[in-house]
Amino acid sequence: MLPPMSDRRLLLAEVFGPTFQGEGPSTGQQAMFVRLSRCNLRCPGCDTPYTWDTRRYDLREHTVAASVEAVIAQVLAAPPALVVITGGEPVLQQPTVTALAERLAAAGRRVEIETNGTIAPSSALTAVVDRFNVSPKLPSFAADGDQPINGAALAAFVATGRAVFKFVVIGPGDFDAVGDLAERYGLAPVWVMPEGTRSGRVVAGLRGVADETLRRGWNLTGRLHVLLWEDARGR
Ligand code: SF4
Repeated sequence: MLPPMSDRRLLLAEVFGPTFQGEGPSTGQQAMFVRLSRCNLRCPGCDTPYTWDTRRYDLREHTVAASVEAVIAQVLAAPPALVVITGGEPVLQQPTVTALAERLAAAGRRVEIETNGTIAPSSALTAVVDRFNVSPKLPSFAADGDQPINGAALAAFVATGRAVFKFVVIGPGDFDAVGDLAERYGLAPVWVMPEGTRSGRVVAGLRGVADETLRRGWNLTGRLHVLLWEDARGR
């Protein structure tokens, strides 16, 4: 049995906003972000390594054990109707994230979860989430030795009817990798996103993938926060 709400804690990296959702279908919408700590993958190109990389960071300095109540109070003190729960990998803390999302939804906020898609969502979490932004990692992005694709978990996200699938595409070979995964697991809709934590790289990436993304019938997203604020943390 879960402890009472007042005792539940999240391993939290930061709460920030109001800002804009920078990626995917809600790009440009005002949002509050709840960034949770810890991840089950080790992607070399990760832009939030302070949530998991113990070789480069003392995670104790980048993590607070925050009560659900405290996070809710901070988020609800700001006006955006959208709350993005991200990480790290937020579904690692699924029971407590569910409690958080339930409270936010009850307060009238829309909740998006950003996840690497390796852990299946529960029915309780699905019931209170507006959308899962699932970002499976391709071999070009994943760390050697990681297992970034969990077919059963991807199928579970598809079954929610509330998931979009966003892929970081680095090179031409990644398009076929996306196509193979989309076909095998029925992933739709597909969004393609370039990598980069600098605006110049994101713009060049967008231009590099745009035509092929169109040809394949997929959607394209940039990284609005990077175009606006480069790699500033908490924006
Ligand atoms: S899954 Fe996401 S948060 Fe985890 S290491 Fe990869 S890019 Fe970073």
